[in-house]
Amino acid sequence: MTAHTDLIARRNATIGPYSPLFYAEPLHFVSARGVWLTEANGERYLDGYNNVPHVGHANERVVAALCAQAGTLNIHTRYLNERVIDYSERLLATFAPELDRVLYGNSGSEANELALRISRQLTGSTGVIVSDYSYHGTTIALAELTTGLRTREPLGAHVRSIRIPDLDADPRPEADVLSETLADIDAAIVSLHDAGYGVAASLFDPLFSTEGMPRVPSGLLAGIADRVRAAGGLVIADEVQSGFGRTGTHMWGHEYAGMRPDIVTLGKPMGNGHPMSGVVTSEAVLDAFGSRNEFFNTFAGNPVSAAVGEAVLLEMEEHDLMARARSLGETARARFDAFVEQYDVVRSAKSAGMFLGLDFAIDGVPDPVAARRVVEEMKRRNVLISRIGRDESVLKVRPPLAFGPDELPILLDALAASLDAATVPPGH
Ligand code: PMP
Repeated sequence: MTAHTDLIARRNATIGPYSPLFYAEPLHFVSARGVWLTEANGERYLDGYNNVPHVGHANERVVAALCAQAGTLNIHTRYLNERVIDYSERLLATFAPELDRVLYGNSGSEANELALRISRQLTGSTGVIVSDYSYHGTTIALAELTTGLRTREPLGAHVRSIRIPDLDADPRPEADVLSETLADIDAAIVSLHDAGYGVAASLFDPLFSTEGMPRVPSGLLAGIADRVRAAGGLVIADEVQSGFGRTGTHMWGHEYAGMRPDIVTLGKPMGNGHPMSGVVTSEAVLDAFGSRNEFFNTFAGNPVSAAVGEAVLLEMEEHDLMARARSLGETARARFDAFVEQYDVVRSAKSAGMFLGLDFAIDGVPDPVAARRVVEEMKRRNVLISRIGRDESVLKVRPPLAFGPDELPILLDALAASLDAATVPPGH
């Protein structure tokens, strides 16, 4: 019996049990504000995990913008609407000048699907290169290239996956690791050409979030991009997790990673929970696609979404959330580094601004059990985090960007206590 046995039974009897719930005893939240959520039993939980409520749960500016626009006009995109143009200008101003066009969608999956469709049409090829532990969405085209997360969809014959190295777990010199991975890319390209698919695109998350935030050789993504372009493909950066200032130093993960994509896909934090996504690209790419396709998406880029998206950007600006992610991220990273020293089972610390991880391994063997225990211990201390990586051995700490200096010590102290509790040797 858990506190929510009845609700779980009703859930299983309606939407089914196959979309897994977090935690041995699932949580049932009834409200949230800022970085705090309230459980049905009245207890408050600190959100150290969710990146969708980017500027804070139930953010006042976002809610007010949504309600005001919904109460004024909400309509599809076949009529002129200034709000959508205003938002598009504001959003595109955060990108490098050559990325100056945007198409909208309603989910990260839709954005990636459209990016693939554009790539296929422009190149006349179908081959795609991804990492061997990645997730980009729910559609058939994306399920065919899903290598991380459980899916029974067979890998498409036109898909090649490469292993993303982690220098924290690989003793070889960085240059050797880099050249090996780039050789894997070369081999994937040759294989796609030999099989007659050619190269339509590469599709990578610049932070390799699903992969567990490996510390990759510098220049890896730029090297991949060069090779993919030379092979005739387009370079897609999936910024569903890495975008909107998460890294603290750059608005976009591809900038942080030092690469120039042809297409950037946006999602999750873009609407702070309101479903919206984007495909950002160049005028040349949009023209090549648009001249062959009349593109229409009923809900995407509607005035309510534009109002919400604009409120998110304004909140980020007003509270300088990117700079905050940088400074809090540095403080958190220092403590994470100390955990590596302190606990044998913690192999390495990972971070990019306010996206942090701790990798658990014993004698080089990943230890997902320890990671799971820490996640549960954090829950006992009313702090939400999760796990990522091919072995689910990397803690995932990725709070709303609205996370503040008052909350960080609560999370870090809870983590220290959870590590103590979870790493007690058996019999003690
Ligand atoms: N890309 C990445 C990197 C993601 O993490 C996700 C969602 N986890 C998606 C795409 C798909 O986004 P959505 O669930 O909004 O379709």
